[in-house]
Formats: sequence, C-alpha cells, structure tokens
Amino acid sequence: MSKKFVIFGDPVVHSKSPQMQNAGFKHINFDAIYEKFHLVDGNSLKNEFIKNEFSGANITVPHKEKAFLQADVVKGIAQKIEAVNTYVLQNNQVIAYNTDAPGFLKAIQSFGKINKVLILGAGGTAKAISLALQEENVDVTVLNRSKSKLDFFKNHGIKSFSFDDFVNEKFDLVVNSTSAGLKDEELPAPKELLENVLKSSSFAFDCIYGRITPFLVLAKSFHNEIKDGEDMLLYQGVLAFEYFTNTKADNKLVEAMRKGLKGES
Ligand code: NDP
Repeated sequence: MSKKFVIFGDPVVHSKSPQMQNAGFKHINFDAIYEKFHLVDGNSLKNEFIKNEFSGANITVPHKEKAFLQADVVKGIAQKIEAVNTYVLQNNQVIAYNTDAPGFLKAIQSFGKINKVLILGAGGTAKAISLALQEENVDVTVLNRSKSKLDFFKNHGIKSFSFDDFVNEKFDLVVNSTSAGLKDEELPAPKELLENVLKSSSFAFDCIYGRITPFLVLAKSFHNEIKDGEDMLLYQGVLAFEYFTNTKADNKLVEAMRKGLKGES
C-alpha cells in the first residue's frame, strides 16, 4: 500500500507542497501520495495524523505552534523556535522538526557571507529565521510594527525594536518576513525608514514567493541584490522530503522538486 503524506493548514488550497513533494516521490520511485488537508481545529492535528495513518506531514499557517505542542519528540532548533512544520511517524511516535529555519539558511547561501541581518516582522517565520541566523553567529536585529511580539526575541538575546525606537545600523541583508506585499502593495515598514536602511545594505530577501513585492522593488532601486522566497519554500520541502523518505537529496532531486513546485512536471 502507498504511504500517505499530507499538508495541514487553514487555508491550504493554494499550497504548492503536494506538487513539489509528489514530484520528488516520482523522481526516486517512492511509492507514496501527498495531499492537502484543510484543518480548522489545530488542536486535533495529532489525532487526525494518527487516525488517517499518515507517514508524515507538513504543517502550515496557523498550526505550527500547536503542532509543536502535540508532538511526542521535537528535534533540533525547533525546540527553541517552539513551532514545527514537519511531522514524521517513527516507531509509533510523532517526531517533529522545523525545516523553515535551515531552508532559509540554504536559500540565502547564494548571497555569500552575511554578518549582519535586519529582519522585518516578528511572527512565526521571524522566530525561525532569527534563531537559525543566531546559531550561525550572525548579528540579528528584529523590527516589527507592534511591540507585543518582541518579548520572544528579547528572551533569546536578539535585539528587537518597533518603528518608533528603531536604531539604524549598516546591515548586510534585510529580510521581509511580514505578510505585507503578499496580497497588497504595502511596504513592511514606513518608506523613509526602509530607504535609510536599504541605502546602506547589499542584499534583500523576501519570504513571500512568486511575486516581486514592493519591498523588493524598493530594495532594487537602492542597488540591493534581491531574492524572493521560492528557494526557502523549496529547501524546507527538500529537507522535509529527506525526513519522509530517509534519503539524501542530490541536485537532480532538488531540481525535480523545483519543477514540481513551479508546476513544470
Ligand atoms: P505571522 O502571521 O506569524 O506574522 C506576520 C508578521 O507580519 C507579524 O509580525 C505582523 O506584525 C507583520 N505584518 C503583517 N502585515 C503587516 C503590514 N501590513 N505591515 C507591517 N507588518 C505587517 O506570519 P508568518 O511569520 O507565518 O509568515 C510571514 C510571511 O512569510 C508570509 O508572507 C508567508 O507567506 C511567508 N512565508 C514564506 C515561507 C517560504 O517558505 N517562502 C515559509 C513561511 C512563511 P504584527 O505583529 O504587528 O501583527
């Protein structure tokens, strides 16, 4: 019988994970099927996972924190992030990982050595990528429009500001991890503040994928090298795939999954 994998989310209809993961399974002849699961009540996540006999799952908005709480074992950096995006069933235990964090690090490798990063936003993605960067000894600052989410970062020794108390420095890389620009033409912070930051930075990364956001347009106008979130999505998926199938991804597999992600296979 084929193994069953799934992505849980609400909404989940637009997820590209099934086409990406199924392309990977096909590439290595792994007998499995990966589907979408629209889950409204995040508290029932583990129950659904067990009841439906899934071998593995990805978890997306807004269930990553609840998935963390329900896992039997949490591995690696996910213990600090307190949010997971991957479940794997092993010896009747739900093992959980966060592959967004290492997926982001892999995605920014193309920029070369980065020493100082400003992260815009303080949501789940900001938590994952700030801690991933901190583990690599990168100097990280978080900037968010509201103060209420900043305690998490302060508690982990990460400098964090809201717009009114922000102290500008020279950053190598500026990352948009807010949802500003996802479905609107908004910038993630006041334009003047961003202009002051981007005129001295070299690279700009947006976690949003599939579109050049107003943030990336502005960064480019200040001669920053820009990149959207496609590679981040790809690499978090590749790392999850490695856990699902217990295989090591080579370049051909990564490119097969990229084609799947883009709907080209
Ligand atoms: P969360 O809802 O957890 O956090 C959103 C953050 O964005 C909050 O800090 C919020 O600020 C801020 N924000 C929202 N709207 C605006 C706005 N108009 N102006 C300024 N700040 C704003 O979201 P996630 O962290 O889960 O996701 C963030 C983004 O990252 C999404 O666009 C998502 O698509 C993308 N993403 C991409 C991935 C990839 O693989 N490429 C993986 C995961 C996420 P406040 O605290 O004030 O509300």
